[in-house]
Amino acid sequence: MNIQENLKTIKSSIPEHVTLVAVSKTKPVSDLMEAYTAGQRIFGENKIQEMAEKFQEMPKDIKWHMIGHVQRNKVKYMAEFVNLIHGVDSFKLLNEINKQAKKHDRVIDCLFQIKIAEEDSKFGMSKDDAVALLKSETFKELENVNVVGLMGMATFTEDMALVEKEFNYLKSTFNELQTCHAKLKIISMGMSGDYQLAIDCGSNMVRVGSSIFGSRNYIN
Ligand SMILES: *Cc1c(COP(=O)(O)O)cnc(C)c1O
Repeated sequence: MNIQENLKTIKSSIPEHVTLVAVSKTKPVSDLMEAYTAGQRIFGENKIQEMAEKFQEMPKDIKWHMIGHVQRNKVKYMAEFVNLIHGVDSFKLLNEINKQAKKHDRVIDCLFQIKIAEEDSKFGMSKDDAVALLKSETFKELENVNVVGLMGMATFTEDMALVEKEFNYLKSTFNELQTCHAKLKIISMGMSGDYQLAIDCGSNMVRVGSSIFGSRNYIN
């Protein structure tokens, strides 16, 4: 596995308007540093503690994205430094992020995770939940969070027609929600196996792990 070469290949295969998040969960700092040396500055992790440890050890111009499911009681461990939280799926969580961001005098960018897969195992809110939240008075009072886009995870399947259908659904949801929340600009969808398809369906942020760092030793 040559991390620098993998990065170069992926970079050259995605258009310029698409942001590449290098998903480095479970990988050692030495691997991340290889990507950093090759110019990568955005890293995605799915466990808050692991991300906080890597943040401590690594250069401070890195943008850390939390891409996993977030437990409310752990938000405080990343509020000081996290750049973007992809998996916001409830008002309660958004409210906690707002509270912790305030303590650090920050405004934290967030994405709403929309449930686009049929699978019950996937987190996320429905389109209707998202609309209701964006239109609510309580939402407008949150001054330390900035909802800048949507994130979705497609069903884990070989059936690319299904994945495409789910990506298209996220894109159309994005278009709809933009009419009541003009700040939406990021569509985070696509991983190693399907990022090209995701981009074709309108993604402008892809989260790629194993195609950069190699397969992981355990399922996350
Ligand atoms: C692990 C993970 C990825 C990256 O998966 P790969 O298939 O290794 O590219 C993307 N998004 C989320 C939310 C993840 O947990």
